[in-house]
Amino acid sequence: MAFESLSEKLQSVFGGLKGKGILEEKDIDQALREVKLALLEADVNFKVVKEFVADLKEKCMGEEVTKSLTPEQQVIKIVNQQLVDLMGGAGAKLTYSPSGFTTIMMVGLQGTGKTTSCGKLANWLKQNGKKPYLAACDVYRPAAIDQLEVVAKAVKTPVYIDRENPDPVDIAVKAREEAERKGCNILIIDTAGRLQIDDTLMQELADMRKAVKPHQILLAVDALTGQDAVNAAKGFNERLGIDGIIMTKMDGDARGGAALSAKKVTGKPILFMGTGEKYDALEPFHPDRMASRILG
Ligand code: GDP
Repeated sequence: MAFESLSEKLQSVFGGLKGKGILEEKDIDQALREVKLALLEADVNFKVVKEFVADLKEKCMGEEVTKSLTPEQQVIKIVNQQLVDLMGGAGAKLTYSPSGFTTIMMVGLQGTGKTTSCGKLANWLKQNGKKPYLAACDVYRPAAIDQLEVVAKAVKTPVYIDRENPDPVDIAVKAREEAERKGCNILIIDTAGRLQIDDTLMQELADMRKAVKPHQILLAVDALTGQDAVNAAKGFNERLGIDGIIMTKMDGDARGGAALSAKKVTGKPILFMGTGEKYDALEPFHPDRMASRILG
């Protein structure tokens, strides 16, 4: 699971502070050097690490001595709060359109887990009393349409498929009409994926955004790809504008650098994390729970 090695390293840093009566600046500096290294080894963005450690030092030095806490406990408390803030503070939630019908565009590079996440999200929404409808708008790879069909069946969600229509924007618009006719209240559009961000993809997604006016554009990014994932998220946000991130494959990521850097680098929150291949392996992302997991 994510953060294993970071967790281990931080615990060893704090272990080194144990038993110290008062922390002197040199103790704090030593601990911060180790924290910095641990974050870099977890593949956290370099700039994010620098800022994190500088803030940490300021807070540790400025901390009032609280009698009820040992110096080690005080440092842990500060690091905990900083990790929570870094990952998005109180945590952001998926929001729904006040109109009563919510359209979500799911975007992402190929292989990140976009189509799987559409199914997981439909499943999660159903469990939360919503009526989702899926739309297959990756018209370039017939296998992608077949895949969404399989996913939709597995999560028992209706899906709009039109193999004769080559225009993804038109499919999205028609899917939206059909969703409302069927009494569904959330449309999840599976968009085309590419190996990298390119102008054609971005233009198509922008055209779709204009036509269906999604309430949310969610980006699936693959935690296993670390800083590449964060850079892709930054690119999508700058060129298209996204509302939130689904961090997939957290179950296989022992480092956690993408999850720790994404909010700070893109300004957009991680709303969900994928924790396995099954369709129920999607959880809302809670920065406070993640921080507790890291600090053990
Ligand atoms: P797409 O090309 O972005 O639509 O990616 P897919 O949805 O086809 O997913 C690519 C692969 O990643 C598939 O084998 C999925 O089962 C797998 N996958 C997606 N999300 C997760 C996850 O959260 N954890 C794990 N372990 N595998 C995932």
